[in-house]
Amino acid sequence: MQFHFRHVPCDLCGADDALPVFWKNGTLVKKQFTIVRCRHCSFVYVDPRIVDSEIPLLYDDAYFRGLGFNRHVDRSPNAAADRNATYADVIESCAEALGTINGCKILDFGCGEGTLVSKFRAAGADALGFEPSESGRAACARGCVSCTVSARRASSCRKRG
Ligand SMILES: [Zn+2]
Repeated sequence: MQFHFRHVPCDLCGADDALPVFWKNGTLVKKQFTIVRCRHCSFVYVDPRIVDSEIPLLYDDAYFRGLGFNRHVDRSPNAAADRNATYADVIESCAEALGTINGCKILDFGCGEGTLVSKFRAAGADALGFEPSESGRAACARGCVSCTVSARRASSCRKRG
């Protein structure tokens, strides 16, 4: 599938003034993604990113069973070690980029079942997860204190613990 990309301003404050923080190679999408940090509010996000109308194509039921673009999303018990290593890498990369994550506000947009949110909180961050996909919300609802399910807009949830 051919995806289309667009430049985006900061999702948090709307400023269009960000600097690259690190790069990550895509798997399904053969492209290097740039993770940037807003110079006004410090929000860290991907820019450019896949256009909104094509993003749901990436997050179907197969994705949450480990058959999508990110095999680390595999929720089977035998994939737990790889999954935890990936989460540790994400937290370490954020800590390096931000200096510390202790007390930082972290938003995991597309938090799935919320495990990374939980790990960020355990590491001292003030983390919150949003899950826009129906499949992700179903997974999230099994592990969250509260989860508002909506097919039209992102839902907020707070992971237990
Ligand atoms: Zn901003």
